[in-house]
Amino acid sequence: MPEYFHRFQCLAGACPDSCCQGWEVQVDADSAARYRALPGALGDCLRAALRDADGETLMTLAEGRCPMWRRDGLCRIQAELGEGVLCRTCREFPRLTHDYGDFMEQGLELSCPEAARLILTTAPAPLLVEDRPEPGEALYDREAMALLKASREQALALLSEERRPMGQRLALLLLFGCQTQTALDGGEPAPFSPEDALETAKALAKPCSSQALPDFFLGLELLTPEWARRLRSPDPGPWDGRTAALARYFVQRYWLQAVSDYDLYSRVKFTVLACLLIREVGGDFLRTAQLFSKEIENDVDNVDALLDAAYTHPAFTDDKLLGMLLETS
Ligand code: SF4
Repeated sequence: MPEYFHRFQCLAGACPDSCCQGWEVQVDADSAARYRALPGALGDCLRAALRDADGETLMTLAEGRCPMWRRDGLCRIQAELGEGVLCRTCREFPRLTHDYGDFMEQGLELSCPEAARLILTTAPAPLLVEDRPEPGEALYDREAMALLKASREQALALLSEERRPMGQRLALLLLFGCQTQTALDGGEPAPFSPEDALETAKALAKPCSSQALPDFFLGLELLTPEWARRLRSPDPGPWDGRTAALARYFVQRYWLQAVSDYDLYSRVKFTVLACLLIREVGGDFLRTAQLFSKEIENDVDNVDALLDAAYTHPAFTDDKLLGMLLETS
C-alpha cells in the first residue's frame, strides 16, 4: 500500500464533492437485508430507496444524491446506527483492494477529493509492506508477475526523473511499456536506454492536435454537468508539477493487473491519455484529476471504451501520442 494509505480520513460534512452524490451505491446482500428489516422511519426510508436490478441491490438517488445524505453532509445511517452498520461500499470507499491470492495491493481512489489530495501531493516513497494473515494460493503466472513487478519499479523511476520535462517522461513510459509488452508476450527482455528511446520517440512523433482528446471523452457516458462543460470548453496550460504523481498513481494501480490478461500496453496508454486529457482540460489540477477519476475510473463502461480506443482511435496511435507529448514537453 502507498505510504499515505493509513493517513486517509474522510472529510465528511466538509467534503467539497461527496461520494454520496451522483452514484447509485451498490449495497451488499447482508446490509440490504438488515436495512429492509429495520423498524421505524429510517427503515421505511431505506425500504423505499433500495432497488433490486440484475442481481444487485442499489440505493436509488433522490435529486441526484443518496437519500440518506443529510443537509449537514453527514450520513443518516451512520448518525443513527453507527459506522458499523454502513454497507461494504460506503465502509471501504475510497480504499481499493486488489487480491492476487498470496498477496494483495491496497490503495486509495483518486475520485475522492481527500484521497486525490494525498495521492497528488505526497512525495514518492516506497510502498508499505505488511504481513498478510492467512495468505492464499497465488492466482497468477509467477514469471509474468515477476516481470511486471520489476518493470513497474522501472516505470515509477522513469516518471520520477525530475531533470526531464514531463512530456518526455511520459513518452519514455510509453516506449518502455511497449518494450515490456514484448517481453510479456514472450519476446527477449532487452535493457531499456532512455537516451536511445528518446531519439526513437523523436523520430516516430507525428504532429497531432490534442483537441481530439476532449472530443473523444465527450462521446463517453457523462456523469456530471461540470465534466461535460469542462470538456466542451477546455483551458489547456503547461504540465502541472503534480502530473508525475498522477502518472505514478495510475502505474501503481494498474500495472500488475496486466497479469490477468497479458495486456500491459493498453493500461500504459490509458495512463498517458489520462495525463494528456487532464492537461488539456486544464483548470484546477486536483479537481480536474478527481473529476476524471469519478467519470472514467469509476465507470466500467468508460474504462473499457478508453482501453479499446487506446488501440483503435485514429488520434491515439503511438506516433500521434508521442507528437502530443514531445510538442508539449
Ligand atoms: S468523497 Fe471522500 S472525503 Fe468526500 S465524503 Fe466521500 S470518502 Fe469522504
